[in-house]
Amino acid sequence: MFIALNSNGERISIENAIKNDEYFCPICGEPLIIRAANSFAVKTHFAHKRGTVCYDDWTHDMSEWHLSWQKQFPEQYREVIIEKNGVKHRADVCINNTVIEFQHSPITGEEIVKRNDFYLSCGYQVVWVFDATDKIKNSIEDSIDPMKCRNDDLCWKRPKQQFAIQIPPQVTVYLQYKTCVSNSQYSNQEFDIMLLLTKISPKDFTFYPTIPYYILPNNFLKEYGIELNDNILSVSDIIKRTKLHIEQGQRKPQKTVYVTRNRIGRRWHL
Ligand SMILES: [Zn+2]
Repeated sequence: MFIALNSNGERISIENAIKNDEYFCPICGEPLIIRAANSFAVKTHFAHKRGTVCYDDWTHDMSEWHLSWQKQFPEQYREVIIEKNGVKHRADVCINNTVIEFQHSPITGEEIVKRNDFYLSCGYQVVWVFDATDKIKNSIEDSIDPMKCRNDDLCWKRPKQQFAIQIPPQVTVYLQYKTCVSNSQYSNQEFDIMLLLTKISPKDFTFYPTIPYYILPNNFLKEYGIELNDNILSVSDIIKRTKLHIEQGQRKPQKTVYVTRNRIGRRWHL
């Protein structure tokens, strides 16, 4: 975890943790240690001491990718404890009645369903963002630009039979990956693209059809309540425009790219 309680019960983010101070798990109250202070593979994080059994038995992703997403949200929305009938879990982000889970490390379909069930039973909408960098290919040609693909061209590079889950209506799934975009102005640059999925089948996935705009990380952040420039569309805005285009019979709407780099100017992924 990246946020722990200090001995006064205050939430302390890992960046502000002081070596040798005491920190405690917000869920089980057991003392924590600071782990991976010098690791490249995972970010420095709080961890239980060996042998502690925490009430929260879910494993949490501690990657750089995960932390950089979490940090796009104000601190009070990160690592929020959700409780029902004495069972407590830690949502990566909880904002506007929506739990957002960022998943970089492998996770089973069963685990995803378990988390969906818990958060839905607590009355939340659920959003998943999977890091799909290097995990997607186009079965027809080289480009993995969603604007150039038919809906069924993009697929997993290494399909896994067990990754077969139903997406309930209250759950939204995005895949994030890097690709070059169709617009010639940006043809040699890679961007983080978010695919909005409607279905995950054992070997393939289906993305939301005929969206005439790229969904970029800032469109996602705007959708889930982060204040950004008025020019940036939320994902709902994009879908609304898409429906309008279809109703008006505009088969080839103008493709507009909103180049919306991360607000603080860093690259998005590693
Ligand atoms: Zn604990």
